Amino acid sequence: MSAIAENINRILSTLPAGVELVAVSKFHPVETLREAYDAGQRKFGESRVQELAVKAPVLPGDVKWHFIGHLQTNKVRQLLRLRPAMIESIDSERLLAAVDTAAADLGIVQPVLMQVHVAAEESKFGFSPSELEAYFTDRRFETLRGVHICGIMGMATNTDDVGRIRADFESIAALAVKIRGIAPDLRGFDTVSMGMSDDYPLAVACGSNLVRVGTAIFGSREY
Ligand SMILES: *Cc1c(COP(=O)(O)O)cnc(C)c1O
Repeated sequence: MSAIAENINRILSTLPAGVELVAVSKFHPVETLREAYDAGQRKFGESRVQELAVKAPVLPGDVKWHFIGHLQTNKVRQLLRLRPAMIESIDSERLLAAVDTAAADLGIVQPVLMQVHVAAEESKFGFSPSELEAYFTDRRFETLRGVHICGIMGMATNTDDVGRIRADFESIAALAVKIRGIAPDLRGFDTVSMGMSDDYPLAVACGSNLVRVGTAIFGSREY
C-alpha cells in the first residue's frame, strides 16, 4: 500500500461515523491526488481557482472538489464552471452575493459554507460570530436563489495552546447550534467544517463533522 493510502486509512480509522474527510491537495501534483483517489478518497480540497482549473479536468468526474481558499469575486464565474461540490470559504456577504448571482445565471444551486473567524490572528478571513448571527437573525438568506448554505467552516488560532484551540473549536460548534436555533427552518444547515492535520482529533471531539487534512496525508507542501 502506498504511504498516501496508509495515511488516509489511518486517519479514516480515527474518524467517528458521520465525520467526513476532505484531502487538502493544494500545491500537490495530480499524480499525488491520483494515489489518494486510488485509495478511495473522493473529496479533495483546493485553495486556488487556477490550480483547480488544471487539476479538475484530469481527475475522474466523481471527485468532489471543496474550494477552501480566499475567493476573489472576479474568479467566481470561473470557479463555478468547474462545479465544486462545496465552496467552504464564503467570507463576506459581497462574495456570497457574487456566487448567488453567478450560480443563478448558470441555473445551478451552489452548496456553500460560511467561513467564521474566531482565531486570534487578525489576517484571517471570515465573518465574526456576531456578524453571522445577525445575518441569520435578519433572515438575509431568504433572498438567495443560487446558493444553498450548508453550514459553517472555521479555523482555530495557530498556537500550541491546546486550551485556546479547544475554545475556538467550541465557539465555532456553538455558533452552528445557535444559528439552527435562530433559523430552525433552514434546511440542510448541518456541516461544521473544522480541523486540520495538527488539530482534527480535537476538532472532532468539539463537534466537527468535516475535517480538512493536507499535510498528514500528502506530506509538506512546496510553495
Ligand atoms: C491548507 C489548508 C488546510 C490543510 O492544512 P494542513 O495543516 O496541511 O492539514 C485546511 N484548511 C484550509 C482552509 C487550508 O487552507
